[in-house]
Amino acid sequence: MTREPTIELNQPVGDRVAKTTCYMCACRCGIDVHIRDGKVRYIEGNRDHPVNRGVICGKGASGIMQHYSPARLRAPMKRVGPRGSGLFEEITWGEALETATKWLKDVRRTDPRKLAFFTGRDQSQSLTGFWAMQYGTPNFAAHGGFCSVNMAAGGLYTFGGAFWEFGDPDWEHTKYLMLFGVAEDHASNPIKAGIGQLKKRQAKVLSVNPVRTGYSAVADEWVGIRPGTDGLFVGALIHELFRTQQVDLDYLLRYTNAAWLVIDAPGEADDGLFARNAEGRALVFDTAGNALASSMDVAAKPALTGRRELPDGRSARPVFELMAERFLSDDYTPDAVAGQTGVPADQIRRIAAELAEVAFREEIVIEREWTDWAGRKHDRMIGRPVSMHAMRGISAHSNGFQTCRMIHVLQILLGTIDCPGGFRYKPPYPKQTPPNLLPHGATGDIRPEMPLGGPHLGFPHGPAHLLLDAEGNPSRLDKAFSWDAPMSAHGLMHMVINNAAKRDPYGIDVLFLYMANMAWNSSMNVPGTLDALTATDENGDYVIPKIIYSDAYYSETVPFADLILPDTTYLERHDCISMLDRPISDPDFIADSIRHPVVQPDRDVRGFQDVLIDLGARIGLPAFTNEDGSPKYPGGYPDYMVHHQRKPGIGPLAGWRGEDGSEFGVGTPNDDQIQRYKENGAFFEHRVAPEHAYFKHANRGYLDWGIEKGIRLSPEPTIFQLYSEPLQRFRLAARGHGERQPPERARDRVERYFDPLPFWYPPFEGSQVDEASFPLHAITQRPMHMYHSWGSQNAWLRQITAANRLYIHRSVGEAIGAADDDWVWLASHLSRIKCQVRLMDGVNPHTVWTWNAIGKRRGAWGLSEDAPESRDGFLLNHLIGELLPEREGGYRFSNSDPITGQAAWFDLRVRIEKAEACDHVEPYFEPLGTGTQPASPGKLAFGAEFRGKAR
Ligand code: SF4
Repeated sequence: MTREPTIELNQPVGDRVAKTTCYMCACRCGIDVHIRDGKVRYIEGNRDHPVNRGVICGKGASGIMQHYSPARLRAPMKRVGPRGSGLFEEITWGEALETATKWLKDVRRTDPRKLAFFTGRDQSQSLTGFWAMQYGTPNFAAHGGFCSVNMAAGGLYTFGGAFWEFGDPDWEHTKYLMLFGVAEDHASNPIKAGIGQLKKRQAKVLSVNPVRTGYSAVADEWVGIRPGTDGLFVGALIHELFRTQQVDLDYLLRYTNAAWLVIDAPGEADDGLFARNAEGRALVFDTAGNALASSMDVAAKPALTGRRELPDGRSARPVFELMAERFLSDDYTPDAVAGQTGVPADQIRRIAAELAEVAFREEIVIEREWTDWAGRKHDRMIGRPVSMHAMRGISAHSNGFQTCRMIHVLQILLGTIDCPGGFRYKPPYPKQTPPNLLPHGATGDIRPEMPLGGPHLGFPHGPAHLLLDAEGNPSRLDKAFSWDAPMSAHGLMHMVINNAAKRDPYGIDVLFLYMANMAWNSSMNVPGTLDALTATDENGDYVIPKIIYSDAYYSETVPFADLILPDTTYLERHDCISMLDRPISDPDFIADSIRHPVVQPDRDVRGFQDVLIDLGARIGLPAFTNEDGSPKYPGGYPDYMVHHQRKPGIGPLAGWRGEDGSEFGVGTPNDDQIQRYKENGAFFEHRVAPEHAYFKHANRGYLDWGIEKGIRLSPEPTIFQLYSEPLQRFRLAARGHGERQPPERARDRVERYFDPLPFWYPPFEGSQVDEASFPLHAITQRPMHMYHSWGSQNAWLRQITAANRLYIHRSVGEAIGAADDDWVWLASHLSRIKCQVRLMDGVNPHTVWTWNAIGKRRGAWGLSEDAPESRDGFLLNHLIGELLPEREGGYRFSNSDPITGQAAWFDLRVRIEKAEACDHVEPYFEPLGTGTQPASPGKLAFGAEFRGKAR
């Protein structure tokens, strides 16, 4: 008898496993990187990690291909040909840093405004922002202004939190999840795992999205809404809840400003503000004492309705009554909104009834004691198991802020914020409402060789907090926190290059970009942006004189820069996903994490954060130098991560603080801190006490614990702002009150859109173009398996999507006589593109869409000249104006939300017509020069060297 051969079934794939944090999208999952002979061989999910618990997605597992991408930059470079030519010369780091130091020092010595420092998908904003603050320029932001600031600001102003990195559905208990405009790439693994959990429990998933892909495809109900009308749909749901009297009045009285009295004094300077007592507390009408009382008086029984007389003889009405009036109006009946939203009235009524049924008749009770902010003990936690999640589909419209507010109002009326089964805050949230972080960078705050007085980005409470010069003009290049976009909490990155080229509001000397593909898929109006990057003055000099760019890859933006600082990949550097920024917490855990070099670079590259800290010391920024002028963090970013203290005891990393590492949150720096993170899988987590797990906004124990751990400033509860007083302050200015008033061009706009109660208005582009000429909406979706531009250097992922098509509803195809793969022209008010179509049923009939950022310019990303990404792939960006359509004699506002300045990508209106077949898309840009980069490999492959190699 022959013996069976012995086969080793479970051979280790590497010599060692290094645990770090993924950077293939913004989810920040924990990964185990298997390394063999110093090379990355395999990446899998870290089973102990709080974000993904071992789950890994296609992008994350393919990080190996991005790490070895042929598009990686190899050494610092200086431009030696015209911008765009790709003619570069490799230089030493010494020369690169000397050049950057000179440029930056000169500007700081004369006028710090002339540096604009903007970062893209930067996960180190607490460092980059701090650096810019130390430098003293007002011109800093990351990419939130074109990503999700409506979502963040809408939530933070309303309930001190927001979706995604700020909170999660209660996956364990929710029975009804509503998703609004959520694409598949964001919060990718946690949402997938969460939806999986809901499916197992047969909870209902309803997705509101014009396109039925990804999460919408697995939802139990798909609402194929018309883009930009979500607010109208939500308004109709609220209408139904009011009409059927199914709102959680007890919850409103406990946690919101529903009973606060709003002064009704038309024409007066405080009309629409809250009536307040001498201590500044908002007033309510106490039905028990039949008198006015402080909103913080826990013995009061506040009235939700009724006009009340104020001590000065004027009258005021509670927020609830004003809100009920608004949403019970005919504007929000299901029948009134059905036509515009494309959602039948009966469906709206049914969904509203389902929400109320689950919230009020299927309530969840957790037998767990807790104490509220006023010291009242509760023996149970009662929850309403309806949760919601929304993302860019809501955010990227010019009505996005108010739409986000409306979604949160819906959640609050149902009593579902931070209760069992509802939405749950992730620590360090919630913050105060309105958030107490104010923006800095007004003209008086900008002085040569001086830091700004505080962080750039914040949350104005009224006109007094705008960043203006003495004449009322914007002090920032992007016009953030000016009358163009008063509450632009993340800046307006989409306006930076175009404003700089027009010297509007002023010219700059140095544009410093990090990881932001502004010459391609991160810009609106790509041809216009390329013109701006190459614009010259009357002397033939570039209008933007110096451009420094740091990235790890040869993207479309590299050839337009003058000085390239090559970054490492995410597997070669330190990084810090900090509590000072947006940590990786879960509702039940407070958590942050690091990256650390798991392999050494084989090129002459340096981690951008190390370079920034080095530059800070060379320039002499106070927080980066010792008194004797020596560098404060000679060990670079890891040194900074451990030793920097933003406030005494509070630094970038919260875990293992104190000399012996026994503290978290607040504690002296610990030299072993990074080692402790590495030993723990590159993350720190601390479980939130069970009695603090819910009602965090009003949970005495959680609020006190937050202060102790340095994540909260105030012991007061977070009170949900159904009615937003900061908005009304801006509106009063537009009505002629106060010292700071909008210029005439912005007066009507502020009056109309700064409504303290959320409301719906049509997206701007649709109302400014001729609808008959541009009858269709055009939007992008983000594929689950690709993330922005990075995916196209990834051979494994390119096998899934190396080109995109324009997806159109079958009826649109029939109307223009187009079948699958036929060519069409798609035109907007700005420009037109030519591409191929695919017909489908799962899309709103008035909407066309495509995958985001698949199209690439020839010469970039290490792709061959005939790569499908360039030949067949296209962007909608070419069609989207960074300014609103031209109006005769009118000032051209940016194509943004008027409140937050969020880029309104999804307002795009188009028309479609069939075109002659051809062999490449239009516009088909000239190939970029590839500088000193190696020629594209004919075939991308990886791993052959490991095959058959004996261990
Ligand atoms: S979802 Fe995927 S790509 Fe994103 S961080 Fe997690 S593993 Fe990485």
